[in-house]
Amino acid sequence: MEISLRNQVAVVTGASSGIGSGIAKSLASAGATVIVNHSSERSTDEAKAVLKEITDAGGKGITYQCDVSKEDQVIKMFQDTVSQFGTVDILINNAGIQKDAKFTEMTIDQWNAVIGVNLTGQFLCAREAIKEFLRRGIDPSRSIACGKIIHISSVHEIIPWAGHANYASSKGAIRMLMQTLAQEYGADKIRVNSICPGAIQTPINKDAWSTPEALNSLLNLIPYNRIGQPQDIGNLAAFLASDLADYITGTSIFVDGGMTTFESFSTGG
Ligand code: NAD
Repeated sequence: MEISLRNQVAVVTGASSGIGSGIAKSLASAGATVIVNHSSERSTDEAKAVLKEITDAGGKGITYQCDVSKEDQVIKMFQDTVSQFGTVDILINNAGIQKDAKFTEMTIDQWNAVIGVNLTGQFLCAREAIKEFLRRGIDPSRSIACGKIIHISSVHEIIPWAGHANYASSKGAIRMLMQTLAQEYGADKIRVNSICPGAIQTPINKDAWSTPEALNSLLNLIPYNRIGQPQDIGNLAAFLASDLADYITGTSIFVDGGMTTFESFSTGG
């Protein structure tokens, strides 16, 4: 059994770092041409480094700067991708941020920034991707499906998170966005799923793993007793995007070392 994404074009948002970079490398190693999206001028070098790893390993792709919370930029990213590569087959809606604050101190800017990237960004990219999937139609030389969308959600799509109301709200909403799209476009053979990572070692949660004390207390939440790596998410993303997963749509898959079994109940609650 081989995971193959040959002849397919994948847009991976927020691919200059962390989970997005791991997914971009996994999809490229399965044969996809990958658009390594990054948000700003500042992240250009990181995106180029990810692309270099891809091409050094024999993969294909480009870097593309686009702020996914901006409608005009997202529309242009999809238009440019289609003019350069002919179409888009796979969207990985990964870009995400945190702006943490105690709820009563959370500013409207902190709220809007997180909802803008984590939710509106996923809406805008999914809308442009689905329009392109429908324009192209099913092409069996690429995939049995017309297109695949994978939302990167979080365990916080179901675990409430004090001090992170904006983030948890954005992830809870992604579940309904994902399921609604899977329902609305199932008959068109567009598959839509979410991956819900637990604690993955990336810059977004550096405070939770960068000292031995912090890491120990994090491991108390993870029955499998290790922190996750971007590759753990990349492995599933490649499978979910492939025809091996053709009957999987409208679901959230947790990749969390057992975090959602609620380890704190392991001693009787
Ligand atoms: P990260 O900070 O390493 O990566 C986030 C990426 O998003 C970066 O490449 C950043 O440049 C990009 N980004 C930010 N704003 C953007 C914008 N406006 N437009 C385009 N790109 C933008 O963090 P990560 O841990 O790799 O996070 C990736 C996704 O995984 C996020 O959606 C996050 O919520 C989710 N997640 C992470 C964890 C974890 O433990 N690391 C757990 C659950 C969910």
